[in-house]
Amino acid sequence: MAKILDGKAVAATIRAEVAESVAELEARNIPVRLDVVLVGDDPASATYVRMKQRDCEEVGIESRAHRFPADVSHEKLAALVEELNQNGAVSGFFIQLPLPPGLDALPLISAIDPSKDVDGLSPLSIGRLSIGLPSLLPCTPHGVVQLLRRSGVEIEGREAVVVGRSNLVGKPLAQLLLRENATVTVCHSRTKDLAEVARGADLLVVAAGRREFVGAEYVKDGAVVVDVGIHGREGGGLVGDVRFEEVEPIASYITPVPGGVGPMTRAMLLYNTLQAARAQAEA
Ligand code: NAP
Repeated sequence: MAKILDGKAVAATIRAEVAESVAELEARNIPVRLDVVLVGDDPASATYVRMKQRDCEEVGIESRAHRFPADVSHEKLAALVEELNQNGAVSGFFIQLPLPPGLDALPLISAIDPSKDVDGLSPLSIGRLSIGLPSLLPCTPHGVVQLLRRSGVEIEGREAVVVGRSNLVGKPLAQLLLRENATVTVCHSRTKDLAEVARGADLLVVAAGRREFVGAEYVKDGAVVVDVGIHGREGGGLVGDVRFEEVEPIASYITPVPGGVGPMTRAMLLYNTLQAARAQAEA
């Protein structure tokens, strides 16, 4: 039976650490503030932003939302990005993705000052990660690594297989695991015999965005299994990319969905905001 990688508990610890550090900064008159840019009326995006703002409130970070209709111009958003880059009261900010059709996120994200890029997704931040320079790290991949480390799971020297190569999760996670000295294989939709490759993993991270598609035939006895996927379940609740009931008896450690990677992603956004505020105060 696998041990549960309890993202909810580890995220609570990180939030408590962030809250303590935020209070210390505030006591030195260094305010910590996270701004969010929300475009359009996608209900999922609105929910995510609400949750992130609630998280900020809990740890004492001020948060402000900049809301725009779906037909806002690129120029208007670019002007806001520039304004937030320049505003000394803003520790960090992010653009809630996806943007509505017709708006290209990449040039906007590329314009975010790396010292305020709390999503860690700008080409500069990703490039710095890739060549081993300090940067704000993408929240989900960083959340996965923190969850493993803080749960006492060794990464160094292990065979890690990442299923998924998105810019949001798979690719930066592969870079982070490499930095942690794992031997990393990245799989995607054109990988031949995925189950066989996955069975070679000591550490299997699944971020394919396909509901419950990884079962026992993908998992080596005693492997550590991290499920990044999130899918709504009919009738309520969430499931991941992994068939939990089937894989849990084989794995040594496994993340649940919900309560695994999701809370870690949210906690790392707070952590990045704190890091950004600290770095700006020391600059
Ligand atoms: P994405 O952009 O859709 O990327 C999915 C990746 O999986 C692609 O690289 C794709 O390959 C690969 N893939 C799809 N089907 C596959 C298959 N049958 N075999 C092997 N690889 C396959 O998704 P994403 O943004 O990375 O997100 C992945 C999942 O994580 C989603 O369920 C998302 O909701 C969830 N997520 C969760 C969190 C969290 O905090 N827990 C955060 C972000 C995302 P190709 O490149 O060849 O198309």
